[in-house]
Amino acid sequence: MQGIDITGQRFGRLVAIKLIPKEERTWTNKERAWLCKCDCGNEVIVRQRSLLGKRVTKSCGCLRKMDAFLATSQVKNIDENYLFQFDNFEKFLFIHKSIRNIINFINIDMNQYKEYIEYFYYQKQFNAIYNFWLNKQKENNTFYDWAKPSIDHIVPKSRGGSNEKENLQFLTVFENLSKRDMSMEEWNDFKKKNHTNSDYFIESILKEEVMQYEN
Ligand SMILES: [Zn+2]
Repeated sequence: MQGIDITGQRFGRLVAIKLIPKEERTWTNKERAWLCKCDCGNEVIVRQRSLLGKRVTKSCGCLRKMDAFLATSQVKNIDENYLFQFDNFEKFLFIHKSIRNIINFINIDMNQYKEYIEYFYYQKQFNAIYNFWLNKQKENNTFYDWAKPSIDHIVPKSRGGSNEKENLQFLTVFENLSKRDMSMEEWNDFKKKNHTNSDYFIESILKEEVMQYEN
């Protein structure tokens, strides 16, 4: 069992990619370990023993997170199979929590819930900010905590704006707080008049995103 090759084999949601060289193994006994790719997109190093043994490791940890989510989400009729369709559970969770801040999920219709989630999960504007913020986090650049995606009412609630998904958008926390209860038109005018330019504003983030693709 020691010398076997399990490259490409599947263990639950994990697929073994490559054996970790002996000098890079962190366990004191230097036992064999594999770099694995999880269905959720994460890569993790797992001991061979944990993949093949009796108490099998089946995911990077996302299954446990999903179980915890299902136990506490308060969304009726949501199951693992629904969650599995998203290649990025963390991103799903982020959107879920953001919407939960606005809408009470206890009585929400399942189709309505799915519409909210999927509307943002695949949306260019949300993904641009989310990726921007996440990349800064990966660089440990805490200066950019202000770039965290924050849900905004396009027509402010104080001016009759609804919770319909079409009236919701993600901005950075910074931009959302600056916009306050302005309409989009007023906010864009304000930015233009004041020649305000910021890394945190959606137009700059979208521009950066486009440049990344072009390079
Ligand atoms: Zn995973």
